[in-house]
Amino acid sequence: MSTPLLEVNDLKKHFPIRGGLLGNTTGYVYAVDGVSFSIEKGETLSLVGESGCGKSTVGRAVLQLFGITDGQVVLDGQRVDTMSPSTFRPLRRRMQVVFQDPFSSLNPRMRVRDILAEPIRNFGLAKDAVDLDDRLARLMDTVRLPRDAIGRWPHEFSGGQRQRIGIARALAAEPDLIVCDEAVSALDVSVKAQIVNLLQDLQKELGLAMLFISHDLAIVEHMTHRVAVMYLGKIVEVADKRSLFSKPMHPYTEALLSAVPVPIPGMARTRKILVGDVPSPINPPKGCRFHTRCPYAFDRCRVDEPELRAPAMHGVAAGHVAACHLHDLPAAENPLLKAA
Ligand code: SF4
Repeated sequence: MSTPLLEVNDLKKHFPIRGGLLGNTTGYVYAVDGVSFSIEKGETLSLVGESGCGKSTVGRAVLQLFGITDGQVVLDGQRVDTMSPSTFRPLRRRMQVVFQDPFSSLNPRMRVRDILAEPIRNFGLAKDAVDLDDRLARLMDTVRLPRDAIGRWPHEFSGGQRQRIGIARALAAEPDLIVCDEAVSALDVSVKAQIVNLLQDLQKELGLAMLFISHDLAIVEHMTHRVAVMYLGKIVEVADKRSLFSKPMHPYTEALLSAVPVPIPGMARTRKILVGDVPSPINPPKGCRFHTRCPYAFDRCRVDEPELRAPAMHGVAAGHVAACHLHDLPAAENPLLKAA
């Protein structure tokens, strides 16, 4: 088997809470608490979940924007979380990011030309000035912006066009992996569709891998290969898109999917309303973290934390794993299977 492009093993990021006069550590926010996944070359993995579940923290940890508490981040077989900044630098080029807000993520005092030239210069990619100009022109073509717009300032563009510039800036470094952190969430519906289509086209044209972080399952369904569902700092289900959307194996995924419109007129999924708020990541519930909101919770769920594993039953696609005790019950007693 080939080496995955990205492997994340038992990643933890606990942010200290400082308090008192001396600023001592009084507790921790368990933002990410043992997350593992991998992404193959050219693959899109979407990380989904409600706001505050830790998905953006995972993205930033992968990019090494801060140190991690525990675990491993491995890029193309090389462990990056323990590297010195100088050793990591060439690998940093291979992982780029597109942020959510196209208004704040571009420096308003730089023309588009300089915004795009910066990563090319930083990583020493252009042979000479002619090569730099050629690369800049091709980047504008790649994100479907007119070449003559390269001399303009960010404020002269619409939100969707600015996000195209953000994508071009990420591509300028010739990455293998792009982390898209809610990259279309701030855009209007019609513009959102255009940017999603652009990302899909680019992925095919350039063979990019993507970690697509989003709370919007309708968008995810459109553009991903696999999905990992996060709840309160943990991944609770992973599957390829078809398997996850047609046969969710975790009650949290089932509830999230029930709110996604079915693209067939007149048809709708049975809506499962999640009761209560997401518990605090400072003091996550014992046992299954979802038990305070799960409609199927039983005694074991309150004491025993379920592991992510393949449900032992027929018809579950390879690689489909879920962390739920329901799959230890006989099939006739498993409400998820009755609902499927
Ligand atoms: Fe619900 Fe229990 Fe499954 Fe957790 S382990 S999702 S509480 S049924």
